[in-house]
Amino acid sequence: MLKRKLGKTNLEVSVIGLGGIPIQRVDEAHAVEIIKECKKQGINFIDTATGYGVSEKFIGKGLKEAGRKNFFIATKSPSYTYDEMKESIKKSLNSLDVEYIDLYQIHNADTEEKYNKSFSENGALKALIEAKKDGLIHHIGITSHSHTILEKALDFEEIETVQFPFNPIESQGIEMFKKAREKNIGVIAMKPVAGGAIRNVALSLKYIINSNIVDVAIPGMESIDQVNENALAGKEITKLTNKENEKIAQEVKELGDEFCRRCGYCLPCPQNINIPFVFNFKAYYERYNLKDWAKERYAAMSAHASDCIKCGACEERCPYKLPIRKMLEDTINIFGE
Ligand code: SF4
Ligand code: SF4
Repeated sequence: MLKRKLGKTNLEVSVIGLGGIPIQRVDEAHAVEIIKECKKQGINFIDTATGYGVSEKFIGKGLKEAGRKNFFIATKSPSYTYDEMKESIKKSLNSLDVEYIDLYQIHNADTEEKYNKSFSENGALKALIEAKKDGLIHHIGITSHSHTILEKALDFEEIETVQFPFNPIESQGIEMFKKAREKNIGVIAMKPVAGGAIRNVALSLKYIINSNIVDVAIPGMESIDQVNENALAGKEITKLTNKENEKIAQEVKELGDEFCRRCGYCLPCPQNINIPFVFNFKAYYERYNLKDWAKERYAAMSAHASDCIKCGACEERCPYKLPIRKMLEDTINIFGE
């Protein structure tokens, strides 16, 4: 398995890491087997989150069997204040049942409000710095679906990694990735198969690794076969052939018409609908086989697709010219509101 240095963290991470969302779909025994297989295949980076159901807990069990020291554990929490983040770190240490976490990230800092809170005097960053001093966490990172927010976060010297979507159809983060690289900040590619939308997983991973702009890609895995297949992509780097490039172009073309990149340029919506989140949960429902989880998260949103008054302002702002109003109608058919 090829390894790359994760920016200034100095962690030598495998180019393929385990994305922890789907772990919540398997039972504990199976999760343990997945972690053991990761070790066998040379995958040494695992990313999870407080919001991924039992994922932290099951991964913790896997670490006991496969050896804590064989992995770098990254987790994250949508906690933006000092108190919330302090509590979240404690909870993650408990759930994972570890003495330290290698990388703790501010999760989903997608809005100015969340960003400002996180980096204010009594924000999440303060709690992370304290936890790092106390040895509870070793490194600090941030994740977002907004590259403009992450670009601002790059100015904080405490930030050591950024996590953002990257795959053949989502290249909107490239300029931000370049800036991160210049500052020696590690780059983690989330959604390497566009949330399950890209069918040719191996090719998508090859594309990402070849781009040389990210340090580690973290496809979600829920079976031993997936671990083996994904690990293969990280064993060697070979140039993409013309045929492979053509196949990628074809996939992108097929997805182009109604694929939301979660960039957030369509916002604000006068009805306060968080459009990228709506489409994110729709994708989780349709493609990730996380129907109950997606339904629950969607229901908890303060405004739903059914609140749309069809003003069309969002469509004018969407750089991908997506038929947002029509896509919201489809969402109502799925979630009922
Ligand atoms: S069309 Fe609907 S979703 Fe778009 S901005 Fe108007 S109210 Fe919001
Ligand atoms: S609907 Fe368009 S502008 Fe809004 S998040 Fe999706 S891709 Fe971006």
